[in-house]
Amino acid sequence: MPKEYKLEPLAYAFDALEPYIDARTMEIHHDKHYLGYINKLNKAIAQDPKLGEVSLEDLLRNLDKVPEKFRRAVRDNGGGTYNHAMFWKLMKPNGGGEPHGKVAEEIKKHFDTFQNFKDLFNAAAKTRFGSGWAWLSVAPDGTLKISSTANQDCPLSEGLTPIFGLDVWEHAYYLKYQNRRPDYITAFWHVVDWDQVEKNYDQALK
Ligand code: MN
Repeated sequence: MPKEYKLEPLAYAFDALEPYIDARTMEIHHDKHYLGYINKLNKAIAQDPKLGEVSLEDLLRNLDKVPEKFRRAVRDNGGGTYNHAMFWKLMKPNGGGEPHGKVAEEIKKHFDTFQNFKDLFNAAAKTRFGSGWAWLSVAPDGTLKISSTANQDCPLSEGLTPIFGLDVWEHAYYLKYQNRRPDYITAFWHVVDWDQVEKNYDQALK
């Protein structure tokens, strides 16, 4: 029996992030789009069970080692599975505010102020052309790096460890915000779970 990735339920209700992210978007995003990536990743693993023998992180870190026949499927759907699994946990009802702890210190060290970090992250999210993600990652030398990726490309494939990210695909905001991606980006800051970012940061340093 090849390994199968499963659709884990959200830790909060679909409407828990209202009014910033609407229930209908969360439901379709999680139950349809996210499930689609998981199903297609499982389909690739079913055809080549060796792909299931390593972690998703390792697959994405070493795409060049994935057989060419399945590389695109793993890049797109493995990325879609990994990126969204991280994204759902980065949000919570009554989130927002400012980071604290070690990650807050690092953000201030690298970006001077939290506001400056936000401005740079927002710029990455706004200027990502078409579908993609904005990220905050830890580089191999321990420094923090803001970047964006196209499609479902994951920073892991660029040697970075993502600790925070924002989905800027239209499917993440179009029902409520239509073409107003900047409004969605502004709203997102109200639902960020900074405890989770801190956990991701600790994990990235291990
Ligand atoms: Mn998405």
